Amino acid sequence: MKQKQDTLIVTLGRDPEANFGFVNPPVYHGSTILHPTYRVLKERAQPFTYGRRGTPTTVALQETVAGLEGGHKTVLTPSGLAAVTTALLSHLKTGDHLLMVDSAYGPTRHFCDTVLKRNGVEVQYYAPRIGAGIAGLLKPNTAVVFTESPGSVTFEVQDLPAIAKAAHAAGALVILDNTWASPAFFKPFEHGADISIQAITKYLCGHSDVMMGAITANEATWPATLAGHGALGQCVAPDDVYLVLRGIRTLSVRLERHMKTGIALARWLEARPEVAHVIHPALPSHPDHSIWKRDFTGASGLFSIVLKPCSDKALAAMLDHLEFFGMGFSWGGFESLIVPQDIEKIRTATSPDHGGPILRIHAGLEDPADLLADLEAGFTRLTMANG
Ligand SMILES: *Cc1c(COP(=O)(O)O)cnc(C)c1O
Repeated sequence: MKQKQDTLIVTLGRDPEANFGFVNPPVYHGSTILHPTYRVLKERAQPFTYGRRGTPTTVALQETVAGLEGGHKTVLTPSGLAAVTTALLSHLKTGDHLLMVDSAYGPTRHFCDTVLKRNGVEVQYYAPRIGAGIAGLLKPNTAVVFTESPGSVTFEVQDLPAIAKAAHAAGALVILDNTWASPAFFKPFEHGADISIQAITKYLCGHSDVMMGAITANEATWPATLAGHGALGQCVAPDDVYLVLRGIRTLSVRLERHMKTGIALARWLEARPEVAHVIHPALPSHPDHSIWKRDFTGASGLFSIVLKPCSDKALAAMLDHLEFFGMGFSWGGFESLIVPQDIEKIRTATSPDHGGPILRIHAGLEDPADLLADLEAGFTRLTMANG
């Protein structure tokens, strides 16, 4: 019987019967794994051969992520960024052309502009809303079209099916950074992706205490993904995997609340005189709202607002005294965050000018009324300081 998603979140990667009845998989620490005979060693004829290549603990998480994303198999990396770089290095070589979305996570761009360019990969940025128009940019040597939807900070939702159709017709692979929605709210392989990346650091972990990434591949791209991951020596620590397995079991209930609070904050912010506009894919005012509605089953708690132009002093007055919104990078934990974002240096194919300061907000699991009161007091300080 095919299980529903919320059931899969609870059951995947667990086998109590094989573990003396314990509900959670055991944490295997290990580098050396012994082989009983010369023949078994020579033929690698056992499931685990060396700690770097995985343990029953990592397999439990790999199977969980693969099952939720809906892909063939998953490998784990020590950060979300390492998942991005490992996926790209596994499928690109000197002389290849890479189409990279302009709204990609900043450090993804940095990797392309440094390591990939230095190694002779031709990197071209494209506007996230290009859709089927990507056909006009595909070249005979285009190996990968990289997508991230919605984009970092500016949350453009990409028409993944249209992009994938054009890319596949030209023989290029489609990689998606699926971190914003998590596999709970977007199914990458049903929308044309060949490879899906998660910064597990965010919602899958969910508690702001682990760095980790995942690359999930379809059957066709799996061998090269596994080979690249192995060649680069990527592996993760068993205690971190345990924390992620623990966090993942509540993914569904956490996300529902992040979504609800995020939308409530976004709607309230949309009516504030200090705010020029709100960028949240689940609001009808978002330019890609119809694509989000067509392809996604929910919204996470991360969105941006653009303030009406104000002085830096006024912005500091607002941000410096918030009680519940912390200022820090990353997101996806249980706590609310707010960070001013400067996208000047991380856009080349679209305009970085949004007409005022951009604040990225993560709606945490606190009571929404406390969060609204905190923001309201912040706006009062901003207005007073703006004089
Ligand atoms: C945070 C993030 C990453 C990188 O994850 P780390 O674990 O911080 O390296 C990659 N992509 C997106 C969209 C992210 O938000």
